[in-house]
Amino acid sequence: MKILIENHIVKIANIEIGGQNPIVAQSMTNTNTLDTQASVNQIIELVNAGSKIVRLTCRSIKEAENLKNIKELLIKNEIRIPLVADTHFSPAVAEAAAVYADKVRINPGNYIDKRRQKSKFTEEEHKEELIKIRGKLGRLIEICEENSTAVRIGVNHGSLSERMLFRYGNTARGMYESAMEFIKIFRELNFHNLVISLKASYVPTMMEANKLLHDEMHKKGFYYPIHLGVTEAGDGEEARVKSAAGIGSLLAEGIGDTIRVSLTENPIEEIPFADKLIEIYGKRQTLPMPYYELNRTSKPQIILKYNSHDEEELLINSSVDFTRLNESGLYKKLKIITNGEPKNELSDIILQALGIKYSKAEFIACPSCGRTLFNIIDELKKVKQKTSHLKGLKIAVMGCIVNGIGEMADADYGYVGAGAGKVNLYKQKQIISKNINESLAVDELIKIIKENGDWKLETE
Ligand code: SF4
Repeated sequence: MKILIENHIVKIANIEIGGQNPIVAQSMTNTNTLDTQASVNQIIELVNAGSKIVRLTCRSIKEAENLKNIKELLIKNEIRIPLVADTHFSPAVAEAAAVYADKVRINPGNYIDKRRQKSKFTEEEHKEELIKIRGKLGRLIEICEENSTAVRIGVNHGSLSERMLFRYGNTARGMYESAMEFIKIFRELNFHNLVISLKASYVPTMMEANKLLHDEMHKKGFYYPIHLGVTEAGDGEEARVKSAAGIGSLLAEGIGDTIRVSLTENPIEEIPFADKLIEIYGKRQTLPMPYYELNRTSKPQIILKYNSHDEEELLINSSVDFTRLNESGLYKKLKIITNGEPKNELSDIILQALGIKYSKAEFIACPSCGRTLFNIIDELKKVKQKTSHLKGLKIAVMGCIVNGIGEMADADYGYVGAGAGKVNLYKQKQIISKNINESLAVDELIKIIKENGDWKLETE
């Protein structure tokens, strides 16, 4: 590995991330960014819960400009917290937001690189696209420099550009290359106030991509802070296991500078869990491997033993320990014993989070944001309650059609917010029912699953 010659510490308003700075937890509002008071109220709740950075969705220039009012009201309330504008794909919105936000998140998968239903790209077309991207980033960089605004290059596995999909497929390598293409342009334009994130809902992909990014940056002799997160993790224990396995295991390897635990719950629930991951694993060094026993049968089983009465700590430790011990993917069986009692359900959730053994339907659900116009938290609970027994199916519950369809990835069925209180239902990426009232949508989803022959009774 090359000696690190450039270790960039990124300043986001009053905090610094990277280097030996403490690893910080962050979250995102799910209010309408045009609703100044509601957004400020939620930001204050997040700050009180311990969030060190707060992100808001900015769908339009109007929303980007309203960050000014949000900031002013926060200052009146004596709250100083770095605000991040999540602008995803629109250069015009990113440029407007960069004036007021402390950091702007752009997604290389769709920033300029529009979907054209193209599956092949010549070398020439690839270069042309890069020239276009470079031109647009130049303008954003000027504004960021004028306003001391940082940038997050935020790649999502579910929204890689068609160019990247053509070259690398929907892979961890594709995620890394997508970020590196943008990093190179920022570096050529001498802008270094950069944070990088590579997020996926499938934990092994998220981990592989981040390890690649971490190692390759070191080999190239530079390093920008890494923001860790498992996207669309859903809610409850399943979401916490995915986040612990993905984020906690990387922190335990000394990777990561800021983290977001995405939950389809009230955003303030994200912070204590994120803080716990940081407290246990955020030591900025590779931690010793955990103790384990091995049951050497034809399918070797890892046995993890704990003496803990803290259920959350047990969930975190066992998720991280098994993920680290099973990096090779060799072990297909896990037994967790705490205070002499087996924890079979937790073992099953961990095995499913790592794609090793599926014992229930798999759910992916976005944490929601200002684009979500239906009650995704309750609806996800209802969908899970009615369909959890459909082992082998993957069901996505997403907040909006703008990003939700791309990011529901390879789900078999999709339940996606379409407008105020309205939902669209999908069989894979094909729309089946449009604008269904949210109170009727779970039943309609079940009807579609039945019509496609994927329904089973719970007792089957
Ligand atoms: S998919 Fe969910 S989190 Fe992502 S932009 Fe849409 S509503 Fe927001």
